[in-house]
Amino acid sequence: MIFYWLTALLLFVSEAISWLTSFKSKESSRFWGNNGLIYISVDLFIVLLLCAVELWLRREKKVYLKRAVLFCGLVLSYVFYFVLDPIVNGSEIILVMPLMTSLVYFEKMLLKSFAILNIVLYLIVTLVPAVLQWTSFDSADFVLVLTVLLIGSMLGQSVIIRSQEMRKAVESLVKSEQKLIVEKAISDKLLKIDALTGLYNHKTFHEYIENLIQHAEANGVPIHLAVLDIDNFKMINDTFGHWVGDIVLKEVAARVTKLISPNDFAARYGGEEFALIFADTTAEEAQGCCEAIRSEVEQMILPQLEGRSVTISSGLCSYFSGDGKEKLFRNADGSLYQAKRSGKNKVVVYQELGSMVTMHM
Ligand code: GH3
Ligand code: MG
Ligand code: MG
Repeated sequence: MIFYWLTALLLFVSEAISWLTSFKSKESSRFWGNNGLIYISVDLFIVLLLCAVELWLRREKKVYLKRAVLFCGLVLSYVFYFVLDPIVNGSEIILVMPLMTSLVYFEKMLLKSFAILNIVLYLIVTLVPAVLQWTSFDSADFVLVLTVLLIGSMLGQSVIIRSQEMRKAVESLVKSEQKLIVEKAISDKLLKIDALTGLYNHKTFHEYIENLIQHAEANGVPIHLAVLDIDNFKMINDTFGHWVGDIVLKEVAARVTKLISPNDFAARYGGEEFALIFADTTAEEAQGCCEAIRSEVEQMILPQLEGRSVTISSGLCSYFSGDGKEKLFRNADGSLYQAKRSGKNKVVVYQELGSMVTMHM
């Protein structure tokens, strides 16, 4: 709309200049008498038309908006053309305006239909008055304007086709980039996760605990490590088959995932062993969580096990500054060994002075 307003302003300025020069030279002017009235009426019509379009555009939402804007542009350019034609040489150039505005939307069909409409309108407004002998007919002007309109619309079409090609190229680039990002995220996840249980794998566990120990040494954040081992798992495999063993592994992992808090970290450490890291919790909370897992697994009912229950033993150890990863592991493993040796299905907590605290079922 701003373009239309600017063009109207230019038109009024050129009219004013033309009027002033004719007034100075006192020549009989087309701006006097009846002609003057026609010009004022046309100018008024332009302003009213622009105001009406402006108001309408503000109220109307989206539907047919493009066509409406372009149609108003087309009408306006012909009104401008009629007003400018007697004052300015080459005023026909204003007729290219609808082509330019339809190019803004980058739609081939839109440009094509408005180009055809524009050419048909130009033929009517030039040929009809000439045939009726109202005005003289300048064939050179006529051919030139037609050529400009045709070339303008052809150029517009090429610009649209080129822009569509470029848009497609950019779209396919963006798509392949998104695909790459998703693939990378999936492969990153696969590298970190154990396929059977969905818990973190051995490698990720070590990376995580190393970082966490560094953090604990620097900031004093409490860490606790629990090592969990399914009791008599070989017997489950031997009695019911490996596929049942796999189901047991998955079900135990599901109980672990359900009971740990979002701050905790669970990994399948190896075969039927799991490692849990509790960060920023008290030793009592970590012990409570291990006990809850033990109890939940014990109560788990799996139809494949024909009424037999699964139990797990755990060794839990808190990290003490300066211990390092190996000592932490050694202590947690020692507690697990203690749990196994003293009857299984229990949580044993490592104590600094060498004694162990055992939690029974
Ligand atoms: P304990 O109570 O002392 O822990 O005895 P256990 O039988 O659980 O321990 P053991 O180390 O003797 O046996 C572990 C078995 O776990 C041996 C191995 O075949 C089995 N195993 C390891 N990984 C998998 C797995 O991914 N799937 C299945 N089904 N079995 C596995
Ligand atoms: Mg084991
Ligand atoms: Mg075992």
